[in-house]
Amino acid sequence: MFFFMSGSLVPQDQAKVSVLDRGFLYGDGVFETLRAYSGAIFHCNDHLDRLFHSAEAIYLQIPFTRDYLIEALYKTLEANGLKDAYLRLSVTRGVSEPGLDIEGCPSPTVTIIAKGFSGYPEGLYKTGIGAAVVNTRRIPASALNPAVKSLNFLNNIMARVEAKRLNAAEAIMLNMEGYVAEGTVSNIFIVKDGVVKTPLLSVGILNGVTRSVVIKLACKNNIPLTEQPFYPEELYSADECFVTSTLYEVMPVTSITDTPVGNGQPGVITRKMFELFRECIRNKAA
Ligand code: PLP
Repeated sequence: MFFFMSGSLVPQDQAKVSVLDRGFLYGDGVFETLRAYSGAIFHCNDHLDRLFHSAEAIYLQIPFTRDYLIEALYKTLEANGLKDAYLRLSVTRGVSEPGLDIEGCPSPTVTIIAKGFSGYPEGLYKTGIGAAVVNTRRIPASALNPAVKSLNFLNNIMARVEAKRLNAAEAIMLNMEGYVAEGTVSNIFIVKDGVVKTPLLSVGILNGVTRSVVIKLACKNNIPLTEQPFYPEELYSADECFVTSTLYEVMPVTSITDTPVGNGQPGVITRKMFELFRECIRNKAA
């Protein structure tokens, strides 16, 4: 495999960063996970918008232009002969003397890794996954802006550990006020009486690229959808539930903390959203 390392493509075994890199020392950096379908990167510009906003929010200047990074993403795919793939673009504040001050970090580290990925097994979309409401709360916006896709993922990792202990694939985190926030790597949607509901961004969640696509698709197809805060009680009494992310796409959730959602099968609107999303991918990838 060839990975992009701050300006050039290098063989995987040479793609190394310093132990003094602040990404390693402090999780001081930002990243994006992107997906290529048939050689086309899905909503590439939206991911780069978020990357640049994340970087700006933490006072990190990305040393490349957006166009250069788009070219680097495609070159990384090409160098590895990949068409359907997962791409991870990371930007750290680079090497500095140990210490938290951000001055004196002149050269951010930029890496792109790519791996063949054709999605989760299709069977999972038929059975859905289990999720669990966990005790680990989403870090509040007053502590860290949730719009920043930061390299420091410990909050999400701790939530995922809890979910796994509850035999669930994904954790559902609440915010500090007890409202449903999001998954560890996904945004959450419920359906009740034909209306789709998803937490508002102000609940303190990442503005998922897939979430935005799903909201637009619902609107275009006259599927009622509202963005509003809701408590876990509404999760448990929902007719349907699904999570969205670049890797999950639209993934049905058929049990929450061991309680079946609706009849325990992916619901009609969830399946419709899944189909619309897949159609969108086919059109974009065409
Ligand atoms: N929420 C969190 C915390 C995430 O980490 C992710 C993706 O990794 C998402 C939501 C989904 O975002 P996207 O649809 O852009 O992949």
